[in-house]
Amino acid sequence: MNNNTSEKSALVIGAGIAGLMAARVLSEHYDTVVVIERDSKPEQPGTRAGVPQSFHLHQVLPRGEMILERFFPGFLADLLALGAFSTPNATATMINRYGTLAFPGDGRAMTYSRALLEWAMRQRVQAIPNVRFLYHQEVIGLESSSDRTTITGVHIRERGQLEHRATLSADLVVETSGRSSRLPSWLTALGYELPEDERIKANIGYTTRNYKVPANRGENVAVIVVEASPATGHFTGGVLKRIENDIWTVCLASVGGYYPPTDPAEFEAGLRSLPTSPALADMLQGAEPLSEPRGYRIPECIRHHYERIEEWPSGLLVLGDALCHFDPVYGQGMTLAAIEVETLAAGLSEQQGQPQHGFERRMLQQMQEAIAPAWWRSSIEDLLWPGVVHNGPDAIQNVPLLHKYFDLCLKQSTRQLEQSQRQGDFDMLYFKYFLMNWLFIAPREVINTDMLNALLASETPASKQAILADLFAGYDQPIETLLAEIVPDFSLTFEMPGGFTSDEEAAS
Ligand SMILES: Cc1cc2nc3c(=O)[nH]c(=O)nc-3n(C[C@H](O)[C@H](O)[C@H](O)COP(=O)(O)OP(=O)(O)OC[C@H]3O[C@@H](n4cnc5c(N)ncnc54)[C@H](O)[C@@H]3O)c2cc1C
Repeated sequence: MNNNTSEKSALVIGAGIAGLMAARVLSEHYDTVVVIERDSKPEQPGTRAGVPQSFHLHQVLPRGEMILERFFPGFLADLLALGAFSTPNATATMINRYGTLAFPGDGRAMTYSRALLEWAMRQRVQAIPNVRFLYHQEVIGLESSSDRTTITGVHIRERGQLEHRATLSADLVVETSGRSSRLPSWLTALGYELPEDERIKANIGYTTRNYKVPANRGENVAVIVVEASPATGHFTGGVLKRIENDIWTVCLASVGGYYPPTDPAEFEAGLRSLPTSPALADMLQGAEPLSEPRGYRIPECIRHHYERIEEWPSGLLVLGDALCHFDPVYGQGMTLAAIEVETLAAGLSEQQGQPQHGFERRMLQQMQEAIAPAWWRSSIEDLLWPGVVHNGPDAIQNVPLLHKYFDLCLKQSTRQLEQSQRQGDFDMLYFKYFLMNWLFIAPREVINTDMLNALLASETPASKQAILADLFAGYDQPIETLLAEIVPDFSLTFEMPGGFTSDEEAAS
């Protein structure tokens, strides 16, 4: 490989969600791209050993789907053709402690499993002529220049064969091996000192079970999300989602070390016990289970700060869960991987094939900026739950105030949207809180005095005073100053992709 020095090659470690998207983008800038995957080549959509989380309910945020559609034009149509559940007449329902919001499908939307998503992506990437896959091969370390300032390739071995080792060279190695990434030990072995990472010790639990959708039932149900709260018990909530092959995949999640049961009867009792609504258990009445409930535990979410390694080696990048893995309860991981790959695509295009000194570290810095608001938001949400701790170099500030502010957002937005939906109109202002959680807009668009005034508009003067007094107890700055200060200075903001068409043209 790489014998012809004028030819540029890239290696991708892991053919998961981030690796497949990275390969697609790299194929435009490198003569050859090789994706190394420890699992065997899948012969059909399904779960696989290398991604043990793939059995569990996964949802891509709309922003992630938009990026996928840009990377692979016609991708959503692929998913439909592969059997994704088409939802033009079905509804996504969100039930929280303040009310119920129902969003009808828009004629384009669909729901599908993570396995189908990955399969569809792999079909697309396998069809790219300069991308090659090496399956059943495990990367076991990095190859570097003698002064260790440049990564020049990887050491691999056939899975399960301790003897069969080889070294592959490349101009760029992209590490996307997921949450079990060995990058920290590979870098340490090369003499790099690792900066302190951030950890949310949240002891997250997931239990998922699949059911056959009963005949003549559930045609108008795409997703039902039931959110709970720390005030009402141990579970963060449950979700029912229709996927391909007439399957409902149903999960129960928790944060803080109380794990959802995997015993079938206890699992269903757990769904019924959700204090905001028994809707999930009601839906499952009479539905035939297709699997046993399966559990998954995540002791902590980790955000590596590789960008803080000043002498970061050239020829190496890292993205996806290997860079930062988030609490999956908020469904952000795959969308953030897409955002990181989008950042890489922009950086590579800017470079126009002329490698610039410090490119890799700059990319890592930009990816960190791109994911920072999501990490901040999900950390604040996790910190609501007893026992959850954030450790890391940068403390998260003003958490109690932010909890109260976001609770106010959830309460007033839900109530206002419920009312406006009843009246047949839709007020985008009250949708902003959800757009922020779905990574479309920056937190600053939700945390500001205009928004606060809108949230309090329907309150009586006395109740408004009481809410403000409770919200800002202990602070003496003017509200405007305080609200400006409590949002970290995220240098990159999430933008609604208004210019999406022209972006599409740029990417094609
Ligand atoms: C229970 C649970 C539920 C989740 N739900 C959601 C959700 O609803 N929405 C969402 O967006 N995200 C969700 N996530 C997160 C999501 O799974 C990840 O963010 C996403 O898979 C990250 O993609 P990745 O490519 O970085 O890693 P992965 O998809 O995990 O892929 C890593 C790949 O690398 C391969 N690999 C590993 N080591 C090596 C090696 N040494 N050599 C070669 N290959 C290797 C693996 O076999 C695998 O194929 C959930 C996670 C969990 C745990």
